[in-house]
Amino acid sequence: MPVPAAGLEAYQRERALALASDARRKANYDAYQAHQRRGAVVDYLPIKLNIENVSRCNFRCTMCVVAEWPKGQRAEDMTFDDFRRLIDEQYGLVEIKLQGIGEPLMQRGDEFFEMIRYARSKHIWVRTTTNASQLHLRTITRNWSTPGSTKSRSRSMAPPRTCSRASASVRCSSASRPIAS
Ligand code: SF4
Repeated sequence: MPVPAAGLEAYQRERALALASDARRKANYDAYQAHQRRGAVVDYLPIKLNIENVSRCNFRCTMCVVAEWPKGQRAEDMTFDDFRRLIDEQYGLVEIKLQGIGEPLMQRGDEFFEMIRYARSKHIWVRTTTNASQLHLRTITRNWSTPGSTKSRSRSMAPPRTCSRASASVRCSSASRPIAS
């Protein structure tokens, strides 16, 4: 995993807060650290999780499977209620990546940011990866000013010329704007 833009100190501070805020999480984390990795029995819950909130995208990169899925997606968008239930059940989590295959900012309304806020209320570190096409200034300043959420522009994102070959409907010029840190 890349070093978070907020720095290792902030990352470690949030890890400590996450463990201190829930005795079950701390016990689960201790079990994870004590586990013999070659053992057949896993007696702890996941401490990190990849969560795919949407499986669709506004791009059609030539090497990506999204375009091959029927109607360009493999599942309905995750709702905030489902996300909250998952986070509550998985009390061992200290970190999530909120993105799978697809563009996470395609989620309608404010639910993607509600998810980030809910995870951050439990000091769960949040990462995401985006093709950056939706990262206009209002989105960044209103919703991503909270320490403990890390965004990355996808390294697999096709450059503008490749994009325009991949799909005439894609406005690739917006993807080349720099990401605010
Ligand atoms: S931006 Fe990412 S998710 Fe979207 S089509 Fe390209 S590789 Fe796939």
